[in-house]
Amino acid sequence: MTQAIRTTCAYCGVGCGISATPTGPRSVTILGDEAHPANGGRLCSKGTHLGETVGLQGRLLAPMIGAKRASWDKALDLVAKKFRETVERHGPDSVAFYVSGQLMTEDYYVANKLMKGFIGSSNIDTNSRLCMSSAVAGHNRAFGEDVVPASYDDLEEADLIVLVGSNTAWCHPIVYQRIQAARAARGTRLVVIDPRRTETCEGADLHLPVKPGTDVALMNGLLAWCDAEGVTDPAFLAEHVNAPEGFWEHIRSGHDLWTTAKTCDIAPALLEQFYKLFAATPRTVTMFSQGINQSIRGTDQVNAIINVHLATGRIGKPGAAPFSITGQPNAMGGREVGGLASTLAAHMDFAPDNVERVGRFWAAPAMATRPGLKAVDLFRAINEGRIKALWVMATNPAVSLPDAGRVREALQAVPFLVVSDIMADTDSSTHAHVRLPAAGWGEKDGTVTNSDRTVSRQRPFLALPGEARPDWWIVKEVGRRMGWRNAFAYDRPADIWREHARLTAYQNDGARVLNLRRQATISNDAYDAMEPFRWGGERPFSDGRFPTPDGKARLVLTKQMEIQEPLKQWPMTLNTGRYRDQWHTMSRTGLSPKLARHREEPLVEIHPQDAELLGIADRDLARVQTAQGNSLFRVAISEGQRLGEIFTPIHWTDQQASGGRTGLLPRPLVDPHSGQPGFKSTPASVEKVATEWKGFLILRGDEPVKLPCLWSTRITVPGGALYEIAGNGDPARLDAFLPKGDRVEAMDASRGTRRIATISEGRLNGVLFVTRTGLLPSRDWLIRQLETEGVGGSVLAARGPGSQPDKGATVCVCFDIGLNQIVAAIREQQLVNVAAVGKALGAGTNCGSCRPAIANILAQAQQETLHAAE
Ligand code: SF4
Repeated sequence: MTQAIRTTCAYCGVGCGISATPTGPRSVTILGDEAHPANGGRLCSKGTHLGETVGLQGRLLAPMIGAKRASWDKALDLVAKKFRETVERHGPDSVAFYVSGQLMTEDYYVANKLMKGFIGSSNIDTNSRLCMSSAVAGHNRAFGEDVVPASYDDLEEADLIVLVGSNTAWCHPIVYQRIQAARAARGTRLVVIDPRRTETCEGADLHLPVKPGTDVALMNGLLAWCDAEGVTDPAFLAEHVNAPEGFWEHIRSGHDLWTTAKTCDIAPALLEQFYKLFAATPRTVTMFSQGINQSIRGTDQVNAIINVHLATGRIGKPGAAPFSITGQPNAMGGREVGGLASTLAAHMDFAPDNVERVGRFWAAPAMATRPGLKAVDLFRAINEGRIKALWVMATNPAVSLPDAGRVREALQAVPFLVVSDIMADTDSSTHAHVRLPAAGWGEKDGTVTNSDRTVSRQRPFLALPGEARPDWWIVKEVGRRMGWRNAFAYDRPADIWREHARLTAYQNDGARVLNLRRQATISNDAYDAMEPFRWGGERPFSDGRFPTPDGKARLVLTKQMEIQEPLKQWPMTLNTGRYRDQWHTMSRTGLSPKLARHREEPLVEIHPQDAELLGIADRDLARVQTAQGNSLFRVAISEGQRLGEIFTPIHWTDQQASGGRTGLLPRPLVDPHSGQPGFKSTPASVEKVATEWKGFLILRGDEPVKLPCLWSTRITVPGGALYEIAGNGDPARLDAFLPKGDRVEAMDASRGTRRIATISEGRLNGVLFVTRTGLLPSRDWLIRQLETEGVGGSVLAARGPGSQPDKGATVCVCFDIGLNQIVAAIREQQLVNVAAVGKALGAGTNCGSCRPAIANILAQAQQETLHAAE
């Protein structure tokens, strides 16, 4: 029997350990690694279904120059030649790399070394800029180094956990499960601070639906409360913390409860409840993520949180810390090697001593001496003609950066574009002059660091397909071909890891917490067998010493920015974020039929009163417009939205939908310290878009098609794909997209209904349902017919003999349980809690990601029962 390989999940910054057992050339059984400290064997829905994503659909399997296949030698020579010539002609700052938190630490290290030590520029930035660079800047300002002063174990030792700007139940589900387990075991209190009422709020002790962008006021108000109530720690402050002049005067003026509640637009009583709870609970962890970081005042928001923890001495102690949690699997590893344009390497900045030290270590011929262009500025510089050659690695900026329309123009305009990726066609690689096939998850070999500083191995368990190669290999080959053969003479990831570890320890007398000295001489075998370990020890700063020149942490004076009232043209505020079962631009999760069922279309969520005012109904189509662009979305009316605010998901691209392009909408405005874009509050408008007909198309096979209609979204289903469609004019033009076969059809002129199927030898090839005025049937039964023998003309009835009632929207993807089934079971069996629903239906008993959704359904059902009884 094939042995299980211990590796790490491909997705979020929780960094769960996985036990992967290959079952064929491209198939694998996935289980949680019980020995991994992050997850102890648990996995969320995304991790659980990783096995559905390791197929080769859409993979880039050979180097391509333009549309032509090329040898590796030819492609690498061309990339090296173009970068060398561009640097010679226009200088080192005329080239750039845009990389990704999906890379291994070893990949990141080689790319950073090539750009900053040999090309001589710092124009290497990463998509982690979009995710957590405000936390990096905040840590550096407060602690003198980018150190996360907490671990997941602190969640089990805290008496109060405050989640700020974090839909943890969806974005970091295993952390959320650890929080829920701590609540059950020791009664830990939970406060959620978020403008939206997300599933994370289910069962929380308090939810504060603050006005977006008011977190500085909220935290300064909290500090003022703690100061007034004598909850600050004067001894800790005196010995271990510096405050800038005027800091306390600023906190004590204008941050009373009433003023703060008004600024944050929440009830003073609610705010007081939170402040009292915080003040009374020394063991408090404040966990924050994109809701804090993705703001044009993100760094101040981070520091306002850290200020409270420093002033109350709630840091470096069990169950007490500010805790930044990252989005990507290796955002932290990238930070450690210096993969941001604003850092140098190994947690060093561009101070002359550091530049000289790193230059000596690398024997670098052309050290960069100052920070480079951060992501948004980098693409702006391309549009201005200042960047002549760009290499994009493992990311899709045409979709993910704000004002993505301008980013596309930049990708089209740059004279030489290289994209290394696992996918053949992405919205970014469409414009590439050279495409290089990279290794994917399951093929990669290296290390990643999760949000609590735990370094884990990602180990390969699948053969590299076609001519794919690891990113570190591709970059070092270009470095060697640019003329630096010895500096990039790596044979394996372990060679790079040892060099990175040596650099962290090089002339490090304790000035930097990041010190991997013990790893510097690790053998190849020991690297292969590496167990997860946390750098910086269990609890950094437990001795009250910080990596600043005087050893003291720093309070940072932060002021609440003025929040502009909505303009007439843009009466709404757009917030953006993730879905539970999708990841980034869906290039991997989009391959999983199970994950696709949780949210099948990109939705714009809107408050019922706003929808009513705008004449928009649930399931309508609506256009979201901002000054940057517009895109179509399916409407979901949600009580969880604040009035005047809408929410759209970040995942959809041109590859899966005609609309849902959230990246087109946000402003390219960034935080002045971190350069992180403010994705969370863009002035916007919404309008209903009427269509003459709606329908769906189910096609056998995985070859995507572009449909000529106003709205089309595609998801993978077992055996094929489901397209939701809507449009104007004659829908007969869609008939041509049905595969060949015996054709059966049923038309109803009074409802404008077309139902057509094509069948070959009892196998369904495709089915098209369109209606102008009527209802559409559930898709589930029809989808199952793709894998059924003996299909006939009765397929147009859309249900078979003894068919089950419509399950409703999928809630539990592991057991394929829908909303209608859960509601029916709650009513009929009088179920009162999540465990009872699990016992009755199985829902929520595998990965557990849907338990907050089940809690939400239970709460709504109980409310409806109460109303009915009144
Ligand atoms: Fe992967 Fe889910 Fe764990 Fe994140 S929480 S690392 S997505 S299994």
